[in-house]
Amino acid sequence: MSDDGERSTPGKGLVQGLAVTLKTMTQRSTTQQYPDVEPELPPRSRGVIALLEENCTVCMLCARECPDWCIYIDSHKEEVVVPGAARARQRNVLDRFDIDFSLCMYCGICIEVCPFDALHWTPEFEYAETDVLDLLHDKNRLGDWMRTVPPPPAHDVLGEPSKEEATAARKAAGPGAATAAKTARAAVRPPAANPEQER
Ligand code: SF4
Ligand code: SF4
Repeated sequence: MSDDGERSTPGKGLVQGLAVTLKTMTQRSTTQQYPDVEPELPPRSRGVIALLEENCTVCMLCARECPDWCIYIDSHKEEVVVPGAARARQRNVLDRFDIDFSLCMYCGICIEVCPFDALHWTPEFEYAETDVLDLLHDKNRLGDWMRTVPPPPAHDVLGEPSKEEATAARKAAGPGAATAAKTARAAVRPPAANPEQER
């Protein structure tokens, strides 16, 4: 008897199950002949993570946010002498950046949180190993994957320019351009409603 109290026909479930089996048996097989034939994956597939080392500032955000704690980062500080500056500046130098793909669950959080676009997905998936320890990719191997990162999608031609593009365009137009644009905007703006004038 079902939950709502209706008595079901005996054997109905069995017939329904067999119908699904028969339908599947008569459908055309869609087996892909991998590895003889390469699968056609979407360009944004989550295969492996690539590191653009020069963009990494060792902010540690990715390692802190990774739910599996499978990103290992070591660094040291280096003094940079800037001509004219009162004191030498300090910068982080990356010594170690490893991702353990035997623990990674491909959630993509590290890539999302990186503020400097240092981490990228690539569709490459052929990095299976016979030893699980070899799934720990160091910064050289992660950097090597960068050659397989697909180019970013083209900008929407109808979209608004980014903040950086707008600032660069303002700077290129010269110092008087911002004032002229403000004056032009003020000229086309309708006067604010003044309740005193309306009376
Ligand atoms: S994809 Fe997720 S689990 Fe894998 S390294 Fe990044 S944050 Fe960690
Ligand atoms: S979040 Fe980005 S910049 Fe920060 S440590 Fe990770 S990869 Fe480097």
